[in-house]
Amino acid sequence: MTLKEDLKQLALESGFSAFGVAEAAPVDASWVSSYREWLGEGNNAGMDYLEKYPDLRSDPSHLLPGARSVISLALNYYHAAEGSAEASLAMYAHGDDYHEVARAMMRPLTELLAAHGYGARICVDTAPVRERYWALKSGVGFAGRNGLVIVPGVGSFCFLCEIITDAPLEPDKPIEYGCMGCDRCIYSCPGKAITGGGKIDARRCHSYLSIEHKGELPAGTDLKMLYGCDECQRVCPHNRDVPETDVMEFHLRDSLRTLTLEQVRCMTREEFSTIFRHSAVKRAKLEGLQRNLRYMDKG
Ligand code: SF4
Ligand code: SF4
Repeated sequence: MTLKEDLKQLALESGFSAFGVAEAAPVDASWVSSYREWLGEGNNAGMDYLEKYPDLRSDPSHLLPGARSVISLALNYYHAAEGSAEASLAMYAHGDDYHEVARAMMRPLTELLAAHGYGARICVDTAPVRERYWALKSGVGFAGRNGLVIVPGVGSFCFLCEIITDAPLEPDKPIEYGCMGCDRCIYSCPGKAITGGGKIDARRCHSYLSIEHKGELPAGTDLKMLYGCDECQRVCPHNRDVPETDVMEFHLRDSLRTLTLEQVRCMTREEFSTIFRHSAVKRAKLEGLQRNLRYMDKG
């Protein structure tokens, strides 16, 4: 077996759902200019960090000198269990924060690369990397009109991560087909945030507003979920009949099955820390959840 085949087997055995390789060349000029345009239109809302490090973002060799390959990995977090109906959270936040889980799962791959004398840098949302670009370029998935990467047979409820390495691995080919173009994601979007061509206007996206936005939300915002938004994924036909994740850390916590809005309204910091230990929800903080309550019908 080649080193690439060994890496792929190891990744799949570790629990990743898809593995692909792209040459670590500068990001295509069309992607660089459309990203610049997206930022210029203010679509990143308050996420100023997306404007930083354009050079690093557009060339992986700035992140690892001598980089030859980018390994893209998809990690399925889908599960079928129902969370609380009234205090609902986006599915990615039903279990543990993926950052540490994914990093631990990637370590055997970097150890294998090191055993062959190659350097590697793990990127789990920890460096300015165009994650979707590399996932598409390496054939891990194809682009949905909802702006997400859809992994064939697995869907879009996936985390994306990368390993940049100086190992010269054989690149994979991008997938030639796209999504079905049914536009269900566009029609169902509660914020009308999908503006065409997979472009998302974060200023109207409930996921951004309920998780990242600081301060009060725009007048008239009517959140459907307490934290995040899954609507453009929930309605997508590519997410029907997909397998549940084997990673138990991503399954629904018992405490989230019965969470009520009243419980959140009265929650103390201690209770918040206990219920959301190792959870991505900590990003919004208790104040963020309690603010979101005020923008929900039932709040
Ligand atoms: S996450 Fe929700 S609000 Fe954001 S684009 Fe998808 S459906 Fe629209
Ligand atoms: S809902 Fe339809 S248009 Fe949107 S990403 Fe899925 S298949 Fe594509």
